[in-house]
This record gives sequence, structure tokens and C-alpha cells, in this order.
Amino acid sequence: MKFNTCRFPPYALLALGSLLTSASARSQLVPGSMDVHWNEGASDCAANPQPPLQVHPYNTQTFILRENPCITLEAPFLYLLVGSTRALLIDTGDVADPKQMPVAQTVLALLPEAGLSKIPLIVVHTHTHLDHRLGDSQFEHLSNVQVVPADLGHVRNYFGFSDWPNGLAQVDLGNRTIDVIPTPGHNPAHVSYYDQKTGLFFSGDFFLPGRLIIDDAAADLASARRVADFLRNRPVSFVLGGHIELSADGETNLLGSHYHPRERALQLTKQDLLLLPDLLSHFNGFYSKRGVFVMYSQLRILIVLGFILIALLLALGLLLRLYLRRRKGLRKAR
Ligand SMILES: [Zn+2]
Ligand SMILES: [Zn+2]
Repeated sequence: MKFNTCRFPPYALLALGSLLTSASARSQLVPGSMDVHWNEGASDCAANPQPPLQVHPYNTQTFILRENPCITLEAPFLYLLVGSTRALLIDTGDVADPKQMPVAQTVLALLPEAGLSKIPLIVVHTHTHLDHRLGDSQFEHLSNVQVVPADLGHVRNYFGFSDWPNGLAQVDLGNRTIDVIPTPGHNPAHVSYYDQKTGLFFSGDFFLPGRLIIDDAAADLASARRVADFLRNRPVSFVLGGHIELSADGETNLLGSHYHPRERALQLTKQDLLLLPDLLSHFNGFYSKRGVFVMYSQLRILIVLGFILIALLLALGLLLRLYLRRRKGLRKAR
């Protein structure tokens, strides 16, 4: 007699096993809350003053900071991760002046005490664009704070990437390990961060709800594949980028506006990120839109616009020359 011990085919058991494993890995993550309404800025900022820096505690050791859209059009997000021995600040924002934007003062106030001072802080970046590092000057002369410059040389040296953009690095904050993954494409020195403790993935401008500005399409696609491979079997609670550029309806925000009404939520999902390689494979090199994501190469668009401008100026010059010749001809005829 043959006992039918299981009516499910082996592949279904495998899928069920991996589902249970990922559910159990997810349940081991320290949870947090994304229940927050980000300040929208205002159409009349003077009439609607808001705090320069909004701080959202995701949990007691993880803080999301957002710069006020009335003070900076970029309104970037900064992330503070606190371990038991050290803390890590990812990006310092778009404003250098501490009177306008008290980034260092706010971050230091959030750090736990260690004896007579605060626990040491490491300041790192997602990439070199100014809207992610202008606040560095507020940290550079503080004791117990190490600022890792955002350029590729310092990033490679500090994290020990010997085969950039391959390989992984880790930062140990004490009972909290952060993986660092090279993600060039938007910017040559771009890195993303994965927090093993919360499952948060910090994607900077490599992946965010809005415009995916791509400097190097091949590097960006390779980064997306590298990240997808890295995350496939890891639990991800939320993917958090550097900006929000979409409305709740999926419309791209107006560029250069201090007012961001009805913004979409900041967080994207692991599934969104796993689909990024496919999304990027449809990028035509200049400008493509797929779903809510707009992909474009700022550099190439600027070059094309430059050529168009030169062509227009040449055409104008020729027309002017023709007009002057004609006028001269008419005068002679009189
Ligand atoms: Zn950027
Ligand atoms: Zn940015």
C-alpha cells in the first residue's frame, strides 16, 4: 500500500518553505511606524511658518528627518540610526547655515548619552550631490563626530571597497549592523544602506518615488540588479529614498515649488525595488516614463538642449544677415 503523505507537489512545498522563512525573518525585524504626515511647505511660506526640520521617530533608535520645502526646494530626507555604541547619520541635507537649518543641533539632541557626552556619530552620505551634503560643515568640527566625505575616493577607502562597484561593506553600530551596497548610476559615488535590525533600505536618489535621474544607464541597471540580488532573500520593511516627488495621485511634483500638497508616502516596497531592473531596461537613454516613475538623463537632455539653442542662434544669425542684405539692396535700388 502506498501512503500519500502529502498532496502538494515538491515545488509548492519549496515555495511554502521560502514564504515561511521570509515571514519569520520579517517577524524578527525591530518594527517601526511610517504613520506620519510630512510638512507640505506652502504657496506663501512667510504666512505659513513651519519648523525647519521635521523629525519622525520610526522607533526609539531610528529617526527620519525631513528638511522643510519652504527652506529648500529639494526637501531631502536624512536618516539617523542609533546603535548601542555608535550612531550613523545618512546625509546632511541641502542647507549649510545652522541658523536656517539646525541639522547638527537636532541630531546631537537625539543621540543617547554615553558618560558625560553623547555616543560617537559617523556621518555618511548616499552620494555627492549638494542637497545631500551641504549640512556637513555643521558636523566637521564637533568632537566625537566623524564625517566621511561623499566623494568616491573617500567612500571606497572608508568602507574598504577594493573592487568597486562590486562587494559589500558593513558598519557595526553595536548590536546593529548596516550593510553598504554600491549603487552608482544616478551619481558615480552613490551607495545604499540596508539596516539588518529594522529591514529598512535607504536608497538615496538611486530609487525614490518620483524622478529617477540617471547619469550612467549601464551602471544604474547593474546597480539595480546588484541590489535585487542582495535583497531577494532578505526581509525589507520599507525602502526609503532621498526625496518625494509624487503626489498621492502619482503625478510628478512641479519642479522648483515650495509647496508639495497631497504628497505620496515616502516609502516604497521590496517588490518595487525588485522590479527596478525591468523598469530600467526600458530606459531609452534620454527620457522614459513607466508607471509613476520618470527616468531621464539630465546630462543628455542638457546636451540636446544646448545643440538646439546653438542651432536656433545660428538660424537667427542667418535670418538677420539676410534681412540686413535685403535692406542694403533696397537702399541701393532707391
Ligand atoms: Zn542626487
Ligand atoms: Zn537629491
